[in-house]
Amino acid sequence: MGDRTVAIIGAGPVGLAAAAHVLERGMSPVVLEAGPEAGHAIRQWQQVQLFSPWEYNVDKAAARLLGPTGWNSPDPQSYPTGGELLDRYLTPLATRTPLREVIRTSSRVSAISRVGFDKAKTRGREQAPFEIRYRNGKGPEVLRADAVIDTSGTWFSPNPAGSNGLPAIGEAERAGRVAYGMPDVRGAGRSRYAGKTVAVLGAGHSAVGTLIDLARLADEVPGTQAVWLLRGADPAKAFGSGRNDKLAARGELGAVFAALVTSGKITVETEFGVTHLSGSEDRLEVAAGSCCGARSVIVDELIVSTGFRPDFSFLSELRLRLDPAIEAPVALAPLIDPNEHSCGTVRPHGAHELAHDEPGFYLAGMKSYGRAPTFLMMTGYEQVRSIAAELAGDKEAAARVELVLPETGVCTRGGVESAEAASGCCGGPAKEEASACCAADETARKAGAAGCGCS
Ligand SMILES: Cc1cc2nc3c(=O)[nH]c(=O)nc-3n(C[C@H](O)[C@H](O)[C@H](O)COP(=O)(O)OP(=O)(O)OC[C@H]3O[C@@H](n4cnc5c(N)ncnc54)[C@H](O)[C@@H]3O)c2cc1C
Repeated sequence: MGDRTVAIIGAGPVGLAAAAHVLERGMSPVVLEAGPEAGHAIRQWQQVQLFSPWEYNVDKAAARLLGPTGWNSPDPQSYPTGGELLDRYLTPLATRTPLREVIRTSSRVSAISRVGFDKAKTRGREQAPFEIRYRNGKGPEVLRADAVIDTSGTWFSPNPAGSNGLPAIGEAERAGRVAYGMPDVRGAGRSRYAGKTVAVLGAGHSAVGTLIDLARLADEVPGTQAVWLLRGADPAKAFGSGRNDKLAARGELGAVFAALVTSGKITVETEFGVTHLSGSEDRLEVAAGSCCGARSVIVDELIVSTGFRPDFSFLSELRLRLDPAIEAPVALAPLIDPNEHSCGTVRPHGAHELAHDEPGFYLAGMKSYGRAPTFLMMTGYEQVRSIAAELAGDKEAAARVELVLPETGVCTRGGVESAEAASGCCGGPAKEEASACCAADETARKAGAAGCGCS
């Protein structure tokens, strides 16, 4: 297997785990990372505390590589920040283990195809190696590989402000007052946000975390005002499952947020689908409605935390099979479709669900979830364990499920926990039925009932 090269795109936690599994299986990984160091995306949100404790953040094959280096594994029950995840796990993994020999940093992949085969050509395609083009500042580089695992994440392609998925009209022109994702409003971005009226658009964990930080900044710097722009009608949906969330830190975050909203420290604008951004003297007018000014707020800054989408631009010569809505591999999409899954639980999956019409090519990690927001690192670790086994020809290990997910899902109906949910109705992710939202739902359906009643 040693002569079998597996190209891995991106040195995030899942890319590095993929490299560890590929190495363990006797194949040769080459990791191409666009940033100057491993964990480049996480470095952009290093102030954020993770909602999963260490026990769920360390890949097993990676830990086996780290063991001989004298690495002290962190307390499994404690919660790292993004920065601690880098310092105590990813950086040692990338610099002190055999992986350091296979990671090429400042190497941005720009295109992938198969040697001698454009997308339309079929006969003999499976035998042709992949040709991966990348840029590293020294001129165009080419890598040939027998397989490719794309773990390049989605952090650098955030969704725009427009509620229709397009940039709001005027968004590009007002770029100086708009930030995306989770800027460090109390740290590196403090001077930009302190004493200002700041609108945050979104309802996921990034939006919630940023709004909590802005409320804390308001305690420190008078005049700071946080405005929450919510596309939906019900703020309670963002409050999470509280005590019922098995990832306790995530539950606590929701509870803290609910208290800040209820107390009025965070102003809320519901059903606010942003359509236009325009200038108002030195400020920014954020408008919602079919015509400019139908309904608007005037702020100093806008932070768009509406999630991320995958960048497929360098994969256009490959035969991908993607769900048209979720932009995830077709077999995975129904498991993670946020329109269907109220519980947020996804059964573990691997090479089989992640396959495309391009043998040897896989999307894994955050990118494999397309536009679905529920990805967990440990799910990615299970994906790449299975993919490495498949590439090594160990079909039995590839098909085996080795991950037991915590019961993170609590069923909600309109943001309100149901009685069944409070007593743990979900029972963890569904094991076989893609359309079942949780294990209890699956059991109920098999018994001929309509479902568990949580969604
Ligand atoms: C704020 C935040 C908090 C989160 N908290 C948690 C949590 O508590 N628990 C949890 O399980 N998950 C959490 N997640 C979700 C997810 O686990 C993380 O985003 C995780 O970093 C995903 O790992 P990844 O390896 O798939 O991608 P990333 O960490 O995004 O890594 C992708 C890498 O690919 C590189 N890259 C991108 N494009 C290219 C290219 N063209 N060529 C070469 N390299 C490229 C990037 O520079 C980056 O280093 C969180 C996500 C965010 C955004």
